Parts: sequence; C-alpha cells; structure tokens
Amino acid sequence: MFRFQDLFRGARQDDPMVEADVWSWIESDLPFFEFVPEELRPRLRALATEILRSKEFHGAHGLQVDERMMLSIALQAALLVLRLGADSYQGWVGIVVYPGDFVIPRSVMDEDGIVHEYDEPVLGEAWEGGPVLLSWFPPETRPDELNVVLHEFAHKLDMANGGADGFPVLPSDIDRAAWRDAFSQAFKSFCQRVDSGEETAIDPYAAQSPAEFFAVLSEAFFLMPLRLRAEYPRVYGLLGELYGIDTAEGEAAIVARRWRMDHGA
Ligand SMILES: [Zn+2]
Repeated sequence: MFRFQDLFRGARQDDPMVEADVWSWIESDLPFFEFVPEELRPRLRALATEILRSKEFHGAHGLQVDERMMLSIALQAALLVLRLGADSYQGWVGIVVYPGDFVIPRSVMDEDGIVHEYDEPVLGEAWEGGPVLLSWFPPETRPDELNVVLHEFAHKLDMANGGADGFPVLPSDIDRAAWRDAFSQAFKSFCQRVDSGEETAIDPYAAQSPAEFFAVLSEAFFLMPLRLRAEYPRVYGLLGELYGIDTAEGEAAIVARRWRMDHGA
C-alpha cells in the first residue's frame, strides 16, 4: 500500500534524508523538470537538501506545510543555484507558505502628498534580508505559464547584492557590461511590445521594472526555454551561464522525442 507517511519517513526538516524515488515523485509534479538533464538530478537533490537544512518553513492562514510542499519548494529553489550554490540564499531563513494568493497592505504617496493605502493581491513576495512569501497550488490547479517559487527565489538572488534591480551577483566569468547591455536592450524591446498591445507569451508583468524582468525571464528560462531563446537569445545565453544549465536543449530533445513518437519514427 502506498502511504504518504511511509514515503516521507525521515524527510523531516532537521534530518532531510530523502529517498531517490521520493525526489522522482516530487519531480514528476513539476513538468518543466523534463528539460533538466538526468545527470544534474543528484546535484539538484543535494542542493535542495542543503536548502531544507538551512531554511524554516511556516504555514500562513492555517496552512499545514507538509513534506511534499517543502521538498517541492526546495527542489525548485535549487534549480536556480545549480551553478551558484545554496550559499547564495544565505542571510535569511524564513519561507512562508500561503494557501493560494494573499494580500499585502501597501501605501503610496501621490503628487499631492496624500498617502493611499490599499491591499494588493499577490502570489508571492521576497523581502530583502527577510523571508520569501509563497502561495502554494496543488499540482492539479497550478498555472502552467508562471512559477511563483522560481520567481521569488530569483528576486532573492537579485537582492543578494543589495536592492532588486535585475542585476544579481554574477560569477566572475560573466561579463557585467554584456549583462547590463543585453538585459537593458531586451527590457526596452519587451516594454515596447507590451505597450503596443502585443499578447506576449512571456508574462507582461515583466515590463514592470528591470527587477521583475529578471524574475519573470528566469521563470521563462525554465518553463518555456525555446521561446525565450528565440525571442531574446543573448539574455537566454546569459541566464544559461548564471544558472549553469541549457534548458532549451532539454526542451528541444523533448520536442524531438515527441515528434518521433507521433510520427512512428
Ligand atoms: Zn516579482
């Protein structure tokens, strides 16, 4: 008999010894893991284990954070630090998980100096030096085109060198000027496309700011890499160097395999 408790025996946060078949099961809930080469899985799992050891999970609004959520969040966060290492997430510990979207109270001052207060519904939030806030969707209701875990943890990488500006800490072999140039050009082009009313496959929320552009394109790098590579090849290449993986090659292999199956080749 298949029992959830048995499967996760030993997967407690203070001793996250997780069996390979449990990781496989968690990965099977994440369709974009198809694009991740098999040989990278052991490193990803080791990084996820490090993340589980160093972070604290909290449920909000009555949500009971279970092992499946913790393992899934840690594994997705690990994808972004395949090259950088789990230390990139140091300086904060909390991961707060909400059942679905939630609101964050905001206040803005208008030109007349009047402060307006309102509640903004969000799917996630990353606080500099503080926790990551995430909404949790069970796999059957999870949207395909966005990924709140990748998004918020990308913000965390961006904030690691102070402020969210779309410029994360880069390994020394990535040219800073090339990064600035490629991202600012792509951001400008993307904003023009959104302003002209084009329905972009990449979430138009990316046009909000360079920080959101980096976070949304990091999602796209894992969720729709062929599309991202076709639209913004230089940005795709730099993200590939930062994240240490060629997701478009992974997706291309899947597309080719499906084509052969459909055509009996
Ligand atoms: Zn964001």
